[in-house]
Amino acid sequence: MKVIFLDVDGVLNSEKDLLEAKGKSELFDRPLALLKELVESTKAKIVVSSTWRIGCSKSGRNSWYGEEIFKTLTDRLAEYQMEVYDITPVINKPGVQRGDEIRAWLENAKEEIDAFVILDDDADMCEFTGTNLVQTSMKTGLLEYHVEIAKSILNGENITHDVVLDAVRKVWDKLPELRFGQLIVNVLGSDPFYELDKNVVTKMRKYERKICE
Ligand SMILES: [Mg+2]
Repeated sequence: MKVIFLDVDGVLNSEKDLLEAKGKSELFDRPLALLKELVESTKAKIVVSSTWRIGCSKSGRNSWYGEEIFKTLTDRLAEYQMEVYDITPVINKPGVQRGDEIRAWLENAKEEIDAFVILDDDADMCEFTGTNLVQTSMKTGLLEYHVEIAKSILNGENITHDVVLDAVRKVWDKLPELRFGQLIVNVLGSDPFYELDKNVVTKMRKYERKICE
């Protein structure tokens, strides 16, 4: 089974979308259509990791978030023939990252997980940050190139230019003082001529993880 861990704010909406809706928290057609494309092309199940899940009946907890906000999500997904398979557990401990809750869900999954991707505008995904996170932004929400990267992670194939550039950008964002040439040589060595794109992505992600440690 393939899984998409889904955040909501910053993925299915954005600052621009929110402004247009005059601050009302809504989910928008543009990102929903993109998510549907991802779900259809990968047959992945949606597991909600967003705070929108807190307090819904599936969570077995009470919270001011309540069922209503979760129902807004499931209703909008249903309009695009998508459904929520599950939610990640809510772990209420100091210092808990969203990645911890995702790990807890993976460890208790009833089916074998072949591949998973995390769509989120935040990066507190622990060891999954460099490998499974497709990071969106609150400014723009989910974009087409995010979907392409997510597809490549879920299908384990098709390393597109976007996938390579995204891996390079993530490292460069963390080491902005480096010149581009320095970054490439540091990660790939002085002669990257024969390096396969797939390996470039793997090495960049490994390097990114090392920086984060
Ligand atoms: Mg968010």
